[in-house]
Amino acid sequence: MIRIPRLIYQRMVQHAREQWPLECCGILSGRDGTVEKAYELQNEEESSVIYSMSPQDQLSVFEEMEKESIDMIAIYHSHPHTIPFPSETDVKLAFYPEVASIIISLMEEQNPVVKAFRIGKEAIYLEEIEVLG
Ligand SMILES: [Zn+2]
Repeated sequence: MIRIPRLIYQRMVQHAREQWPLECCGILSGRDGTVEKAYELQNEEESSVIYSMSPQDQLSVFEEMEKESIDMIAIYHSHPHTIPFPSETDVKLAFYPEVASIIISLMEEQNPVVKAFRIGKEAIYLEEIEVLG
């Protein structure tokens, strides 16, 4: 279960809309599965089907999380044209099995769908999201 404050949740969906038709990406951090902070990162690929976060961006987020002693809870990205389910590339690039992958699908423009997954070596599990507030 991932708990996300409503403002952060809404901002994440807004980030996806702003970057459309490209994929957006970012990191959610916090404590004990409750998100406290979101980092909006640049999709270096500038692509509508894949994303990658720059190593420098990731490093500065890691440093900030370390300073505030908060953990990485999830990595999010958007699917501008496809369903909210991890693509083959998403599975291949899931380097942190302890971190959830959140996908924001904008396939239906008026109805963004947000889902969270754990991508393991053997299987993909759906993880529940609770929006707080
Ligand atoms: Zn994806």
